[in-house]
Amino acid sequence: MDRRDFLKFGGMMLGAAGTMGLPSSVRATMEQGYEAAILAEKPVYRPDGWKGARVKTLDWIGGSFDINNPQQVDLNKCDSLGSSTIVGPITRRHEIEGGFKRFDTGYYGDPAELRKKAGAQYYSPMGDALVFGARATGTEAMVDGPPRPQKLPIPDPVTMARHIKDMAMFLGADDCGIGVLPVQAVYTHQTATYEEMRNGVPRAQDKEIVNTHPFAVVLLYNQDFKTTTMASNGYDGGTFGSRRAYLYNGIMSDVLARYIRNFGYEARSHHNENYQVMVPPILIAAGMGELSRVGDCVLHPYLGYNYKAAVVTTNMPLMPDKPIEFGVQEFCRVCKKCAQLCPSKAISMETEREPYNGYLKYPLDAKACTIFRRTNPEGYGCGRCAVVCPWSSKEDSWFHYMGSYLSSMKSSALNRLIVQMDDICGYGSEVATELKSWIGFTSVGRI
Ligand code: SF4
Ligand code: SF4
Repeated sequence: MDRRDFLKFGGMMLGAAGTMGLPSSVRATMEQGYEAAILAEKPVYRPDGWKGARVKTLDWIGGSFDINNPQQVDLNKCDSLGSSTIVGPITRRHEIEGGFKRFDTGYYGDPAELRKKAGAQYYSPMGDALVFGARATGTEAMVDGPPRPQKLPIPDPVTMARHIKDMAMFLGADDCGIGVLPVQAVYTHQTATYEEMRNGVPRAQDKEIVNTHPFAVVLLYNQDFKTTTMASNGYDGGTFGSRRAYLYNGIMSDVLARYIRNFGYEARSHHNENYQVMVPPILIAAGMGELSRVGDCVLHPYLGYNYKAAVVTTNMPLMPDKPIEFGVQEFCRVCKKCAQLCPSKAISMETEREPYNGYLKYPLDAKACTIFRRTNPEGYGCGRCAVVCPWSSKEDSWFHYMGSYLSSMKSSALNRLIVQMDDICGYGSEVATELKSWIGFTSVGRI
């Protein structure tokens, strides 16, 4: 079947509930044709592989996962999640425990007073415009809805997983993975969304979350390193890169969730405007990266921190990926560049990880980081850790790919050398000037 025929066929399927009434022999032929069409297409999913880093796929996180009876994985029955060692009971969390939610609900003190104390705050026309767009993607009607009453035929979970990844890349994602959803990644309760707050619901509401979807599709959107480097020179470019990524993540994940529902399966998108899941464990489960020195941040093999993630949870049968490792634990042990350059000193300088909510991880002073980001008198936000991390993609070149390859060899001596090379190249201390024109408008609206 050629591409044109495939598209015609897809349109017919989407439009025809009557398909289900066809004789089974005809339906079987159509299903085979559909599967063949997906496999015949040149995959667009991650066409360049891992761009340098030596990535090892780890054993299945749940151990007993059965694709014929897919269920969420209980991390309390596992001894690790990817390269993160599990050392004690892991509990589900309330969304309000996140730093920004705590700041907004006054947990760290009166937000207005904290901002006044920090100095003048800025109004950013561009930041406001990006948020305006992103907010539209977070309403309940955009993130969720009923699945199509009758299921459309789909191919086997391996083929369908590749199709969903190809679809994600077509929508604009820079990488995509599918993980089995950890029970502990689903929030116990959600705070009010912006839509609910507009309708008078207080931010600190306790809406109980029930989500039994076994799978989580992860979409990553590149923040644009050039914009993010603004975080290095006092301004806050990180937020513009973040907000642009949140906007596109919202669009991509809402559309992908709707696409899955159109096949008759449940699917809900989760992104910055409306989360019911905690993203870092899902990133690890979906083979998107390793937990790093910066608190809960997950490093990707070539985007580093230079991305934002959205998630679509679903019960569509999809063959999930496995967690990966590429030497981050060994690299972070000797690097510490983010900790040295963090303006709020929120990142640990310790050499070894410590137990926190059941995981071994580097502690992060979330209060110090959040207050700095929410009250930064030089702009709004921060992101310097993302800029200075040697893993954050500096450039698309053989030189950077070689650096990634050597960094993933787990050699302390090599890792020290690479951090020195990173410093010598001036990475992390770039002064971005060419994008300053629109950043400059930030101060025009100083309030
Ligand atoms: S965002 Fe800024 S303040 Fe927060 S950990 Fe990173 S460098 Fe530190
Ligand atoms: S800057 Fe260094 S220590 Fe910090 S997360 Fe990146 S690799 Fe790890």
